[in-house]
Amino acid sequence: MPHRWIADRMSSFDSSGIRKVFDLAAKMKNPCNLSIGQPDFDVPQAARAEAIKALEGRKNGYSPTQGIQPLREKLQGLVDTEFKHADRELFVTSGTSGALVLAMMALVNPGDEVLCFDPYFVMYPALIGVVGGKCVTVDTYPDFRIDLDKVRAAITPRTKVILLNSPANPTGHLASEEEVKGLAQLAAERDIALISDEIYRLFQYEGTFHSPARYNPQTIVIDGFSKSYGMTGWRVGYCHGPKEVIREMLKLQQYTFVCAPQPFQWASSVALDVDMTPHIDAYRKKRDAIVAGLADDFELAMPGGAFYAFPKVPWGTATEFVAKAIENELLIIPGNIFSGRDTHFRLSYAASDETIARGIEILKRVAKLG
Ligand code: PMP
Repeated sequence: MPHRWIADRMSSFDSSGIRKVFDLAAKMKNPCNLSIGQPDFDVPQAARAEAIKALEGRKNGYSPTQGIQPLREKLQGLVDTEFKHADRELFVTSGTSGALVLAMMALVNPGDEVLCFDPYFVMYPALIGVVGGKCVTVDTYPDFRIDLDKVRAAITPRTKVILLNSPANPTGHLASEEEVKGLAQLAAERDIALISDEIYRLFQYEGTFHSPARYNPQTIVIDGFSKSYGMTGWRVGYCHGPKEVIREMLKLQQYTFVCAPQPFQWASSVALDVDMTPHIDAYRKKRDAIVAGLADDFELAMPGGAFYAFPKVPWGTATEFVAKAIENELLIIPGNIFSGRDTHFRLSYAASDETIARGIEILKRVAKLG
């Protein structure tokens, strides 16, 4: 039983699964850690220098809720060039997570259904629960592609929002133009809000990233600097979409997060000018190493983006397989944390080449223990 002061909404989700993995990591002496959801490269030097300049320049107060003008204008320029939508407005958020919270609160009434694809990013069902929504999942196994017939079958008169995340956490799936266009058009036809979480858009290796906003001008796009520029601790994201929705979200940001940290907004503006291609090329090679290394012992859908792979366990449940991997000093995350199924595991290749090589060696060994 929760403490008597705790609100009912807190029992709508649980974070014990992922915490267990992190607790285990803290106890291990020499872990091979492929469980981390953040890049292993640092914030670009020019952005770090700009953050210091902002701190020393006393830019330490609140910024306007919608974000500092230079960053907002730069982002708005990029978005206008890409989409050419007349009423697409943009504001700076307290990370992508902050934007997700605002979007859920602004759009979902208690009892509304929010559709997301299984496997999903851990935060989605939790946030849907917090706002009193019902999380309806659409299965994407075994290749993690979006099946529009399954989406159509899951839609009811209460479906309010569809949440898309491509490239995806935890599968690395990069949705094709056909998948994205079909979903975007379906949402428009049925008058369902489409939220596109594009935080991994820079990390694309196979094919091209497609935003549903290109095919559905009402799409609410959530993006951020955490992954693209290795600044997960700086909490800078942004959101763009139709004016009426963005203004409601902004109203709520004013009374909750207030603004993203000001010095890091200045730094983010500089980060936008940095070419991250060398890092993306390095991650493509890491992805290739994982795919080649696991080919003989694991079934794995080719991850086209992000920095995750989501192989099927060769024996037992994912929970059992991951427990054995952890006994062998390898940290990975069982699929049931991201899914109704317990058949796969997530590994992050945002790690050094040495760590990846060691991880592959341990996985091949553990695969034979079943
Ligand atoms: N969306 C997805 C799909 C993610 O994987 C993450 C981070 N793990 C986030 C959003 C949150 O990122 P941020 O640091 O910008 O809050």
